[in-house]
Amino acid sequence: MSRSPLSLPVIMLACLPITGLAEDMDSHAAHQHGMAQLTLVLEKNTVQIALESPADNIVGFEHAATKPGEKAAVAAAISTLSQPALLGLNTEAGCSKTTTRIKKMLATPERSAHRDIEVSHTLSCSQPDKLKQLDASALFKAFPRMQSLKVEFALPAGQGSVILTPAAPLATLVRG
Ligand SMILES: [Zn+2]
Repeated sequence: MSRSPLSLPVIMLACLPITGLAEDMDSHAAHQHGMAQLTLVLEKNTVQIALESPADNIVGFEHAATKPGEKAAVAAAISTLSQPALLGLNTEAGCSKTTTRIKKMLATPERSAHRDIEVSHTLSCSQPDKLKQLDASALFKAFPRMQSLKVEFALPAGQGSVILTPAAPLATLVRG
């Protein structure tokens, strides 16, 4: 089903200083079913969030949607992914969505039969210094095939990386 857990680009990305994260938002991470990646970058009062997941986690298949049920599944997933509430940013930060871009069924870099779904949110926050937490529980609940989410974040207050799971869905966005 899934390919090797660590492809070379991911190892290279992991070696980059995290301050380069904003430029690397479009980089492709490993495609491993059950796993997804999210990057969060706060600059001034703008938050950029990119979620990248194997399509299998989101819709349960990775071939082109041809049957009505498959098309409906993709449409429902896109609708769900468009909701920034799914990202669970703590409300004190007062973040509201300005734009969302969704790329569905993207061919993976290796051009295999595997497909990714990428979601990019831009949010504007009235109290960006109060952005402290990301709660992925709604995301895990909406997409139960997703079993782990690697979160990489860069804020003025700190930067780091954490792996979230349905049992441990909270990311604290400051380095402890
Ligand atoms: Zn796949």
